[in-house]
Amino acid sequence: MAMNCKPVPTLDARINDIRMRTAEIVNNDIIPNEGRLWAERREGESFHERTEILELRAEIKEKVKKAGLWAPHLPKEYGGMGLDFLAHAYMNEVLAYAIGAASLFGVVAPNSGNQSILVKYGTEEQKQQWLMPLIEGTMESGFSMTEPHNPGSDPRSLTTAAVVDGDEFVINGHKWFTSNGIDADFFIVMCRVQDKDSTDPRSGPMVQIIVPAATKGVNIVRGIGVWGRRESDHCEVKYENVRVPVKNALGRVGEGHQAAQDRLGAGRIFHCMNSIGQMWRAFDLMVDRAAKREVHGGVLADKQFTQGAIADSYIDIQTARLFTIHAAEKIDQGLQAARTDISAIKVYVPAAYTRVVDRAIQIWGAAGVSNDLPLWGMYQGARTLRIADGPDEVHKILIAKNVLGQYAKGEGWDFGN
Ligand SMILES: Cc1cc2nc3c(=O)[nH]c(=O)nc-3n(C[C@H](O)[C@H](O)[C@H](O)COP(=O)(O)OP(=O)(O)OC[C@H]3O[C@@H](n4cnc5c(N)ncnc54)[C@H](O)[C@@H]3O)c2cc1C
Repeated sequence: MAMNCKPVPTLDARINDIRMRTAEIVNNDIIPNEGRLWAERREGESFHERTEILELRAEIKEKVKKAGLWAPHLPKEYGGMGLDFLAHAYMNEVLAYAIGAASLFGVVAPNSGNQSILVKYGTEEQKQQWLMPLIEGTMESGFSMTEPHNPGSDPRSLTTAAVVDGDEFVINGHKWFTSNGIDADFFIVMCRVQDKDSTDPRSGPMVQIIVPAATKGVNIVRGIGVWGRRESDHCEVKYENVRVPVKNALGRVGEGHQAAQDRLGAGRIFHCMNSIGQMWRAFDLMVDRAAKREVHGGVLADKQFTQGAIADSYIDIQTARLFTIHAAEKIDQGLQAARTDISAIKVYVPAAYTRVVDRAIQIWGAAGVSNDLPLWGMYQGARTLRIADGPDEVHKILIAKNVLGQYAKGEGWDFGN
């Protein structure tokens, strides 16, 4: 089923135009080809068959570029759309309707996050060496922050050390869940700059350092198996006496934590809009099935359990969507209070997404968990989102802290602002 995306009366013509043109490619070129575009390499698949899939992807990318819809996250001078915040958020919900569509529009995590960080913090030399090849697609990258022995939900606990030795950093640390680690040509590694003789592994300012994957001492231990799969591209990586030039620091020493927050902060709006696009898809699949499937002498749509699932999902999607747009508008206006709402949507949206997909799976029965539909992937993705990018509890703590702080100042919370 195609996404029913019409101009939104409250949006300006420019954003509506972007949404409509995005929907056209999603509906006409991506959804009808989903089965082929993302098919795993099959046993006995011929070279010709594989080439056809790659050609199809390239054709769609070319169409996207011609339509001026390539790389919504990048400024124009780097070949992107140069979109403002709200336009980007509104485009994302349309893009995310088709699984994998973002990659055909030039947005592939973690490369896209690394590109944005390089645009903001990179020196001219770093941009030429790492950013441009990443944009052109001749290089891949990873972001290496989380450590197995320290809680990722408290980034201040990280202990990967970078010791200055002459004009080099010597890096020692153990990371895991470094996504895209198998293909990455370089990693952006979150480290602490430490004195050679430091005895406190949690002391020292944070810095992000660009580390080429081919550097001696970068050891990919494994692609961690997730959700029952034997291997994934979320890698465990050991950095053992890795030497890189001091000029590979991305931004100033001490800016590392802020740079990571930049990456995650506003990005959470885009992730939530992605989730909303996917909920929209799950909802369409659910309602379509309910209208057609006959059980116990009538269509599912006539059963009140099904109607309840549809109504609850409608409420979940609308609440998640309006809440996210509300937070996006606050950020767009530069309002400090957005921080509380960003955390609130980071908790609310993945939970709502999980509920909607869960109901869609239930209504589809066995087909719901089959590989014939995208629901299984959505279900795993939604559940994972409650951990990645700051687990629920961390965001709830932040919400409560902000609210309690306001009351401690003698003011109540102003829900209108
Ligand atoms: C699919 C996937 C991809 C990822 N990709 C990357 C990547 O590319 N690069 C990267 O660096 N990292 C990546 N991560 C790691 C991710 O950022 C971390 O998993 C996340 O920050 C949580 O850290 P943790 O797993 O160490 O959990 P912990 O910090 O150990 O927390 C475990 C649990 O404790 C609970 N908890 C935490 N704090 C509190 C509290 N104060 N009160 C009560 N309960 C609490 C939460 O329920 C939390 O889920 C990825 C993770 C996944 C699952």
